[in-house]
Amino acid sequence: MTHFAPHLRIDKINLDSPTDIDLSVLRLDLVHPVVSGNKWFKLKNYIEEAGLQQKETLLTFGGAYSNHIVATAAAANLAGKQSIGIIRGEEPAQWSHTLLAAQQYGMQLFFISRADYRQKNIPAEVYQQYNQNNIFVIPEGGYGVSGAKGVAQVFADERFNEYSHLITAVGSGTTLAGMVLAARSHQQVIGTPVLKNATSLAGEINNLLPNEKQGRFQLLNHYHFGGYAKYSTALIRFMNSIYQQYALPTDFVYTAKSVFAVFDLMTANYFEKGSKLLFVHTGGLQGNGSLPKGTLIFDA
Ligand SMILES: *Cc1c(COP(=O)(O)O)cnc(C)c1O
Repeated sequence: MTHFAPHLRIDKINLDSPTDIDLSVLRLDLVHPVVSGNKWFKLKNYIEEAGLQQKETLLTFGGAYSNHIVATAAAANLAGKQSIGIIRGEEPAQWSHTLLAAQQYGMQLFFISRADYRQKNIPAEVYQQYNQNNIFVIPEGGYGVSGAKGVAQVFADERFNEYSHLITAVGSGTTLAGMVLAARSHQQVIGTPVLKNATSLAGEINNLLPNEKQGRFQLLNHYHFGGYAKYSTALIRFMNSIYQQYALPTDFVYTAKSVFAVFDLMTANYFEKGSKLLFVHTGGLQGNGSLPKGTLIFDA
């Protein structure tokens, strides 16, 4: 993990209209097929810390469809570490695509009740099988200053100076916090939360930021399409059409909703003329595997 140096691709989108706005996409989805995009950058400092503390097992938390779970499993595997996933809720009769993928990367999964999950209680069986002193806990979603700083490093390069707006999908807000950390004074940072009623989100993002950066972002709360992992036929149609028109693949949980927001805002003349938008594609394409076959015209 420490030696990765991905060349980060930025694709210009050739818009038919409006012609006075520029839209480009930072393709973090191309960094790694599974530890895709933002998850890789959020995890890298945690994995380094685990290495420094000589801890051989990474433990983290997530739901049955969590990209963070599968990314942690794959990253642990690449770093030569063991991994444990603490999964919210009863063990399902049929494991999701995401859980199966995590298991394939060697992650051992433990299912706990929603009440225990809320408290982040680590079940006793974990300590029967693993030495507690060897376990490094990564917070749910990679939420934390280390996660945000890993994301901020992405934007250090001066080729990011030219953009007026940085836009991305928001779950825990760690990625957005990293973008705010890295943003130049002329740049606006915009996030589209995928959770409905994400009322505590702004505070959680501010908690990752130094005073002078707090509040220097906007959350647009009406692009969740009904809530986490909910989708409509209109969203699927949109995903297929932007793939067809711009060769831009998106996932239905995060990035499709956020790209939809970008187009919706452009149509509503939200951005002033001459704006140069950078949409940060955070990956997550593996999650499309839980859609019925044939729903999308592209593969993850
Ligand atoms: C996890 C995830 C996000 C959300 O990132 P946060 O840092 O938790 O806000 C966005 N997009 C994709 C594809 C993700 O998998």
